[in-house]
Formats: sequence, C-alpha cells, structure tokens
Amino acid sequence: MPGMPDSRNWFFPVTPSRRRTFLHGRKSGIRVMVDGVGLLNFSSNDYLGLSFHPEVQSAATRAIQGHGFGSGASRLVSGDDPVLHDLEAALACWKGYEAALVIGSGMLANIGLLDALSGRGTHLFCDKLNHASLVDGARLCRGAVHRYAHLDMTGLERLLGRYHALRRIIVSDGVFSMDGDCANICALIQLAEAHDALVVLDDAHGLGTLGPDGRGLAAEAGVQGHARLIETGTCGKALGAYGAFILGSSEMIEGLRQCLRTMIYSTALPPSVPAAALAALKVAREEGLPRRLQDRVQRFLQLARQQGLPLVVSRTPIQPLILGSDEAALRASFRLREYGLFVSAIRPPTVPEGTARLRITLSAAHEGKDIERLVEALARTIHGSP
Ligand SMILES: *Cc1c(COP(=O)(O)O)cnc(C)c1O
Repeated sequence: MPGMPDSRNWFFPVTPSRRRTFLHGRKSGIRVMVDGVGLLNFSSNDYLGLSFHPEVQSAATRAIQGHGFGSGASRLVSGDDPVLHDLEAALACWKGYEAALVIGSGMLANIGLLDALSGRGTHLFCDKLNHASLVDGARLCRGAVHRYAHLDMTGLERLLGRYHALRRIIVSDGVFSMDGDCANICALIQLAEAHDALVVLDDAHGLGTLGPDGRGLAAEAGVQGHARLIETGTCGKALGAYGAFILGSSEMIEGLRQCLRTMIYSTALPPSVPAAALAALKVAREEGLPRRLQDRVQRFLQLARQQGLPLVVSRTPIQPLILGSDEAALRASFRLREYGLFVSAIRPPTVPEGTARLRITLSAAHEGKDIERLVEALARTIHGSP
C-alpha cells in the first residue's frame, strides 16, 4: 500500500532522551548497580526489602524444585497449583475480605476487573490521577466513563448526582503511585452507599506501608471487607515478589473466577511466584517490617523539614520532589548519582505536564544513616550548594 510505513519506520512518538536505557542490576533490597556503578537505591517499590529475604528466596527455590518453573497453561485449563489457593486464603484472611483471586499482575487485575464489571449501562467514576492500569481498564467499559479532579469528593458527588445508571462504580487508587497521597476511602464508601454504587480501590502501594501490620489504606480506615468495596493489590511491590490479587465477597470472587478474561486467557503464574509471595507475607508480619518502614518515613520527613525540602504532603514511603521541567528532574537525578544515590526522575506522560519530579521511595531495609545521607544530598542538589 503506498505511503504505508513498514516496521522499520513506523511512527512512535518517542523523544531521544526517553529512548535512553541503562543497565540496572539489584544487589540487595537497597543496593543497585547502574551503568556499572554501585548505588544506594531509593527508586524501588520493594518497600520492605523482601525480594532478597532468604526465606522468600528459599520458598521460591523449593517451589521450582518441586513443581518446575513455568505453570504450563491457564488456571482454567490446567487447574490450580495448591499454592495459589494457599496465597488466596492468606491474603483474604489478612486483608479482611471473604475471598481473594490471584492473577498474573496488577495491570492484568485492574484491566480484567473493570472489563468484567462494566457492561452496557455501567458508569465508571474515576479519579483523574488513577494508575494507567485503571485508566486502560476503563477504556474497555461498554457504558460511560466520568472523571473527577484528583481527590475531589464534591466533584465526585456532583457527577454521581447527575448520572443515574443501573450500575455505578467509583474507581480510585488507594495510595497514589506518583504523589504518595491517599484516597479518602471513608468518603468514597459513604458516597457509594448514598448513590448505590460500588468502589474499586487499587491499593498497590498501601499494602505493607499503611494501616495495622501494613494491611493497607482500607484497613487503616476500618472499612476492609465492606460489602460495597472491591480491592486490588500487587505482590510485586512491598511483598517483593510478583503477581496480584482481587479481594471481595465470595460471590464476587467466584463470579470473577469464571469471567475474568485476563486470568482465563493468560498462563498462570509460575508456582514459585505465589510461593514467594506467601513467604513474604509471613516474614513481613513476623518481623514487623511495616512498622520499621513507617519509622523510616517519619525520620525522612523530620530531616527533610529541617532542610526545608519542598515536599508534597505524603505519609507514605513515596516522597515526590516536584521540580517542574524534565531537564531539572533529570539533572537532579544525575547529580544524586554522584553522591552514590539512585533516585529516578519521573517525567510526563507518567505525571502531568510541568510536574517532572524525583520520586523518592523509602524501604524498611534502609538504615537511619542511609536516610541522613539521602536528605543531605537532596538538600545540596536542590539548594545548589556544593
Ligand atoms: C504498580 C501498580 C500496578 C500494577 O501492578 P503490577 O503487579 O506491577 O502489574 C497497579 N496499580 C498501581 C497503583 C500500581 O502502582
């Protein structure tokens, strides 16, 4: 066909600076090799340092030795490895829900869930800063999608009052991944009750970081297991593993088991992966890691305030330092590497235009002195002293 590009010159809107990739190998929960240089890592979502924990590693190794690596087929075709059921039972119990469904990843969980829930006549009400997986899931909605300004409960209420539909679902991140701020889950539940809606809460970053024992934002507010609440989360972040889960009533989870396309038409997780996640859950609780992480967050906030760092309000291990232009964020990130620290720059379209930032993430594996070193280097980088 004339004018039709072949695969070598297909147009992708990629700018040269974005094409840059670097080699990155992790050496522990908090140490990383970047382009051949060892750095202290403040860019990982391994919030509890569990990906390198010996019990997590040995659970995975044992599962590989006993069950092989790949799972061979979809759960619906080949049946479930028992460890999937063990992990589902442990997650449901710990998070305070009737049932859980484990699925390949958070991306697959959110896309599949919103697709499964939203038939014709369904209206979704979404926070404008929701994670890409919820945004993409909403694209599959066969009804209508409405978006409200970030955390704007008045705006959400107005939309709920205006659009009456057979089924309405409020969709929000719990802890927002780029700002570290939190949804007002109590207000979301109240609005859901008042307007006969459901709430889908993606608390990928709340798990292990907030609430009693790190059980997340809903548990912190005491609304876990609420009849109008469906929660999703990932095992790839604080649990240091991979895979994800959906939590809700037994009926909801049983229904999803039979119609969640991103589970049915995708190969099940390798058994070693849920085995590692299950071990991580146990270690996190036994060693009180979420509490240690909260101590690190408090220490960081205290030091950062003393240094006058322009932080956005966050009580989570996600601490953004908004610098504005892409260049300013990239420059600061490179400068920090000279201090032996790895803090990645996050730029649009991941965050809104003009809000390029350093996204600092703290871990329970960081020591107090690591936090001190970070804040000192940040102060020098931001305030421009040598
Ligand atoms: C990381 C993330 C996901 C995706 O989870 P994966 O298991 O990494 O696919 C979904 N939602 C939010 C808010 C996230 O931060």
